[in-house]
Amino acid sequence: MSLQLYNTKSRKKEKFKTVDNSNTVRIYSCGPTVYDFAHIGNFSMYIFTDLLRRYLENGPDKFSVKHVMNITDVGHLKVDDDENYDFAASEDKFEIASRKANLNPWEISKKYTQVFLDDMKKLNILNPSENNGFMPLATDNIREMQAIILKLIKNGYAYISNQENIYFDVSKFPKYGEFSGKTLKDLEAGKGGRIDVEELLKDKKNIFDFSLWITDESHIMKWDFPSAIKSGKFGYPGWHIECSAMSMRFLSDVFNYKIPDFSKFKTLDIHTGGEDHIFPHHEDEIAQSEGVTGIEFSNFWLHRKHILVNGEKMSKSKGNFFTISDLENGKLGNIKFSALDFRMWTLLGHYRSQRDFTLETMKEAKIIRERVQNFYQKIKESKNLEIKQLKENKLEIFKEDFYNYLNDDLNTSGALSVIFEIMENYNENNGNDLKIFNFLNEFNSIFAIIDINKKEIEIPKEIIELTNQRLEAKKNKNFTLSDELRNKIENLGYIIKDTKDNYEIIKK
Ligand SMILES: [Zn+2]
Repeated sequence: MSLQLYNTKSRKKEKFKTVDNSNTVRIYSCGPTVYDFAHIGNFSMYIFTDLLRRYLENGPDKFSVKHVMNITDVGHLKVDDDENYDFAASEDKFEIASRKANLNPWEISKKYTQVFLDDMKKLNILNPSENNGFMPLATDNIREMQAIILKLIKNGYAYISNQENIYFDVSKFPKYGEFSGKTLKDLEAGKGGRIDVEELLKDKKNIFDFSLWITDESHIMKWDFPSAIKSGKFGYPGWHIECSAMSMRFLSDVFNYKIPDFSKFKTLDIHTGGEDHIFPHHEDEIAQSEGVTGIEFSNFWLHRKHILVNGEKMSKSKGNFFTISDLENGKLGNIKFSALDFRMWTLLGHYRSQRDFTLETMKEAKIIRERVQNFYQKIKESKNLEIKQLKENKLEIFKEDFYNYLNDDLNTSGALSVIFEIMENYNENNGNDLKIFNFLNEFNSIFAIIDINKKEIEIPKEIIELTNQRLEAKKNKNFTLSDELRNKIENLGYIIKDTKDNYEIIKK
């Protein structure tokens, strides 16, 4: 079976291929808004994207991947991801965070970008910019966003309001709502009078017209808009437009000319995000991108379902969210979980299934990960690795199952069940260790949950006994015996390091 992926656009599984049938997959992923710590819900999405990337690269098809993930460091309004469109709460998250922390918005984004990168590393998430791709900042792409906005105005899809804001006119884009399955009628009906329509329509033509550019001289992060159509007042971009700009800039040739050439845009192979991005973020990305290029924005759209925490939807506003450091520091059930335990947790379920994050399921994930880690360790240290002659070869069947699961819309839980089966069926006498070892490395190039450099020190019982005798001798101030025992232990290949009132044994 070849790789099938569930495409949000068609709402069914489709055989995956690149737009130009080449071996290079161009992926764009909506990245973090770095005004606060990213929580485990955010990371479950980035782990999913990482698994997709690793599978394309290291799975049977051996694609090369060009991955772009943006960092949002300006202009993400609270209203942008609020389904209820509560315009009263419409304020830039960076300005709120910087007021609270008494730092300027640039300091805020710098601080949280670093934390994000550190967490990514701990989670074994490949950094796009270190692997042939890019992780651009929104603030480094303002001119590109402005070029798109100007073109949208020229094409009749956008307009400048009385207050000098620039909006996308959804009534001009008949496809609006098709992607998320929401029609403008449904959207309006869903509001149930919760918003002040009259107030809203003072500045824009239709309720669901979204901001491309917000003119606001009082905003801390602000830019001019060099164009005859504007008065020269400063402002900042809307959130959605940045993803169109960065995907066009880094995954096609649009901006490789003196004057941007939108006819050079090449449909993206895959666009990823969380299910919460489907509307309005991705609906808006499609409208503004296709409004400017006239061609389809992305061929495949993959969305990770959001996770629950103890049965409840997680949100920063509710305060029921955990960061990676929280898990490491024992904030969940007083148990210290590693970032890789969390990676394991996310991969134990399918990315499109709803998972409930609880202490129990995390404990389970930790145990499973340790079992896999120990199994790897055991095979790695096995003397049978030298044996090349195989007695029976069930492994090929396991391998086929493993890849069949992953080819079926990245069924990670199914693929893991194959690994568990290999572990259960392991027989050290059948001489398959080298094949198993190679396969485990193959598995880990995709799942990345094993620490392959870990050196487990198993201290033999007799060494522990000798060190206990030595500790006793020291307590009784019998230093001759204590030194004798130390030498004996050293001759057996171990070194004792004395700590305050205990000791540590290290293998030489
Ligand atoms: Zn985006």
